[in-house]
Amino acid sequence: KSGFVAIIGRPNVGKSTLMNQVIGQKIAIMSDKPQTTRNKIHGVYTTDHSQIVFLDTPGIHKRQSKLGDFMNNTALNTLQEVEAVLFLADTSEGFGGGDRYIIEQLKKVKTPVILVLNKIDKIEPPALLPIIEEYRKLHEFAEIVPISAMHGNNVNTLLEQVEKYL
Ligand code: GDP
Ligand code: MG
Repeated sequence: KSGFVAIIGRPNVGKSTLMNQVIGQKIAIMSDKPQTTRNKIHGVYTTDHSQIVFLDTPGIHKRQSKLGDFMNNTALNTLQEVEAVLFLADTSEGFGGGDRYIIEQLKKVKTPVILVLNKIDKIEPPALLPIIEEYRKLHEFAEIVPISAMHGNNVNTLLEQVEKYL
């Protein structure tokens, strides 16, 4: 099984930290070289039975110009073409305008979206369920996976969920 997965989310939600955690676990290639003009390969995760190519999707963020519009459309095309989208959110910061904008964009594509609720190490466990309920109201996510990218909690579960969509 192999396929492409796009990682999206506001700045500082932990996208790079997650990649480092994933790459730290298994053989992977880290690259900052542009794959095309618009996509960057973050890393390639390889096991005996699967290979997941993680793509950065920078243009999905809020547009501020005509160029931004263009970026946005190319980013949407990318989301259309991948097997799954990982949408990272910072559980400890709550829901922000940037998140709302990204969710609006996600509604335009048919690709399964896995909501990754990161930084669960920063909240008390009982606080998690209400947060999940909030996000559930906003979009029909294919999966919702709480993790701590920094400490590695539940990252294996996340990878197992991703593999289901390859
Ligand atoms: P990016 O902009 O989405 O790539 O976010 P980064 O990976 O650069 O992370 C932004 C900040 O959040 C850094 O200071 C990370 O150390 C921190 N961070 C990322 N993941 C976690 C986590 O699971 N728990 C905690 N406590 N901090 C995290
Ligand atoms: Mg980063």
